[in-house]
Formats: sequence, C-alpha cells, structure tokens
Amino acid sequence: VPGICEVRLVQTAEKAERRLIAIASGKGGVGKSTLSANLAIALRRLGHRTGLVDADIYGPSQPRLMAADGERATAHDKQLLPIMTRYGVPMLSMGQLVAPEKALAWRGSMASGAFGQLVEGRWEHVDTLVVDLPPGTGDVQLSMIQKHRPAGAVIVSTPQDLALIDAARAIDLFNTAGVPVIGIVENMAGYVCPHCGEASDPFGQGGAEAEAARLGIPFLGRVPLDIAIRRASDAGEPPAAGDDKAAAPFLAIAQKVAK
Ligand code: ADP
Repeated sequence: VPGICEVRLVQTAEKAERRLIAIASGKGGVGKSTLSANLAIALRRLGHRTGLVDADIYGPSQPRLMAADGERATAHDKQLLPIMTRYGVPMLSMGQLVAPEKALAWRGSMASGAFGQLVEGRWEHVDTLVVDLPPGTGDVQLSMIQKHRPAGAVIVSTPQDLALIDAARAIDLFNTAGVPVIGIVENMAGYVCPHCGEASDPFGQGGAEAEAARLGIPFLGRVPLDIAIRRASDAGEPPAAGDDKAAAPFLAIAQKVAK
C-alpha cells in the first residue's frame, strides 16, 4: 500500500487459532467504535486475550477512545507491531498508519491492503481480535470476508427505523457470505435525564430487539444513551474499564459474545 510502510503479509500458524469478531453497522454515528473499544476491554476483563483492530478508514477513533492518541505503530521484520494500550488491550489502528484525511481518499484496494496489514500484525498472545469496521458494506468488509474469515459479526444499531434498515443490509452481507451473525446490540436506547430523572426514548424503543427476533438472530443487549458514556469516551476512559456499574452493559454483552 503506497503511502504507508510496506509490510509483507505473514501467515502464521497462530492466525488460525485467533477468533476475529467483526463489529459492523449499516451507517456511521450509531456507536460502533464505542462498542468495539468497550467490548474489547470487557472481553479482556472476562479473561480473554483480546486485541483491537481499528479498520474504520472514515473516522479511526480508537486511538482517542483508548487514550493512545499520537502513538505511531512500528514494524518489525515487515510486520506491524500493535501498541499496548493502558487498558491491557493491544491495538492497531488505521489512524496510526496515516492521517485520516488521507485515508478518506483511498481507493478500495488500498483500504483493503491496509486492512490486511492491521489484521496480519504481530498479535502475540491474542486469541480474540475485535475488529471495528467502517460503516456500511464496502471493500474493507468484502476483503475481510474473503481473506480473513471472521468467526462472527456483531451488528450495532440505534433503535430507530432508518438505522435498522441499514443494519439489515449489513446482516444480509454476512448471511450471504456465510459469516455467523453473533447478534445485534441496541445502542443509545433510552435516555434518563440527569436533572429530573425522567426516562425518554429519543430514538424509539426496542426496535433492534424486535428486528433481531424477526430475523431470528440473538439480541445481545442494549446500551443506554448516557452523557457519561460520551464524556468518558472523549476523555479516553472507556466505561468498560471503569467501576462495575459503568462497565455492566458491556460486560453483559461480552459474556454473550464470548459464548
Ligand atoms: P460510530 O463508530 O458508529 O460512527 P461512535 O462510536 O464514534 O459511532 O459514536 C458516535 C458518537 O456518539 C460519539 O461521540 C460517542 O461518544 C457517542 N456515543 C456512542 N454511544 C453512546 C451512548 N450510548 N451514549 C452517549 N453517547 C454515545
């Protein structure tokens, strides 16, 4: 891939044992990156040796979410070395390879090539690789399905109709390719006003669970729309790494994903 360090794709025996879990959404802004970071940390808390790949070329946000802004990935023997985040989850991000505004202009083959370099990095002592995909059903998804065969996909959606229609497209892609859909996570479900305590549903309620039932795929749980989640994410302090109450929704989802 021109513009980033050249890395030979190295097939190792270890690769075959690693579970790749793709985190997908039909559209952007539904919380796919937030869920990916927190799920990776929650899986680690449950004892899984988890790594995180940030393949979202349109907005690689894992370096900020994982408090690793400005850290560049290095290569050894033509293989990328994941950086170790302070949450014990090693990570490689598109954002560490190239300035996001450059990645935006990439053609499909360049994005797919860069994706291969991230997944084929030196993931030592990692048995579960959480992959934060770009939104939609584009080249990165297709190349991942063809070359890297994920063990399963988790679909993130808000409860809203429009987001659900897009999520159904992502589900269809994985179904057609024979990649098991592990389930749907409903994000931004229900809002409790921090001042008056009144509960409301800005994006509707229960849409993702109903859609999961309709499609016959598991519902993995819901994460509330919570200003604390947004604040913690911006500060590079994922709630899954926090106290039990903050981490609870992510640990519950991780338990189902790990099964
Ligand atoms: P995506 O990866 O789908 O584009 P992000 O994970 O980047 O979405 O989330 C988009 C924005 O919404 C971010 O500012 C994030 O902090 C915020 N956000 C995500 N999930 C929640 C939530 N459950 N409650 C509050 N804010 C959230």
